[in-house]
Amino acid sequence: MDKVKLIRDDGLRTDGRKADELRPLKIEANVLHRADGSAYVEWGYNKVLAAVYGPRETHPRYAQKMDRGIVQCRYNMAPFSVSERRRPGPDRRSIEISKVTAEAFDRAVLTEKFPRASVDIYIEVLEANAGTRCAGIIAAAVAMADAGIPMRDMVAACAAGKVAGKIVVDLDKEEDNLGQADVPIAIMPRTGEILLLQMDGHLTATEFEQVLDMATEACKRIGAIQREALLNRYSTKPDAVKEGVATLDRTASPDGGDGNGK
Ligand code: ADP
Repeated sequence: MDKVKLIRDDGLRTDGRKADELRPLKIEANVLHRADGSAYVEWGYNKVLAAVYGPRETHPRYAQKMDRGIVQCRYNMAPFSVSERRRPGPDRRSIEISKVTAEAFDRAVLTEKFPRASVDIYIEVLEANAGTRCAGIIAAAVAMADAGIPMRDMVAACAAGKVAGKIVVDLDKEEDNLGQADVPIAIMPRTGEILLLQMDGHLTATEFEQVLDMATEACKRIGAIQREALLNRYSTKPDAVKEGVATLDRTASPDGGDGNGK
């Protein structure tokens, strides 16, 4: 196999990005009618949908906590989301991502406000091109805000790593496969508090610091885009209601419901 040149002669990456440049990121809030909160994220070639329900009665009941609420998450990759057909259903990787995502949100959500209840996050990856756990967290955080779940701050996520000896942010599939290290993180952008940190590969202590700084800075930029997505959705809402969309929503509801009251 020919060796792929991950850093070109002009110093840019294979897709023409600079080391600290993110893939194009598009976020849309409140895209599902039935969910309490939802969001759709396109990030490079990743396409991810998140739905949030709750706070609601905890299932399974044994997971209930008497003094506080819990956050549960199911991350799933669609069988058609990768080039080779994936076997449907949970695998070790999706169980791991579900667990670390739930733990990240558990630290951000004010769970003491809803004892015994749970907030349930569903992340569906429709198309995957590396960075889907971060894309899932970005979508879930906007969906949480859309659902009105009380959080200490927005939650933003991004990876940084090392490819061809260079520290870069937001690795794509080729860089993830052939690079030397990938470190996805999730933080609260206002305080910089780390909610998730994983590492695949090897870095020196100095490189690790650089990776962490680069990913943190990227998360802060992403946090601003997340807030903008929520503002976009809700600043246009009164006009939509004025134009009669709310009435149409009601009749279009498959269960005859009230359109979630939103
Ligand atoms: P992340 O998507 O968070 O970067 P990984 O590093 O585990 O998570 O995966 C990197 C990429 O590898 C995924 O985004 C996806 O494009 C691809 N991938 C993951 N699991 C599979 C699978 N079972 N089959 C084919 N490709 C996969």
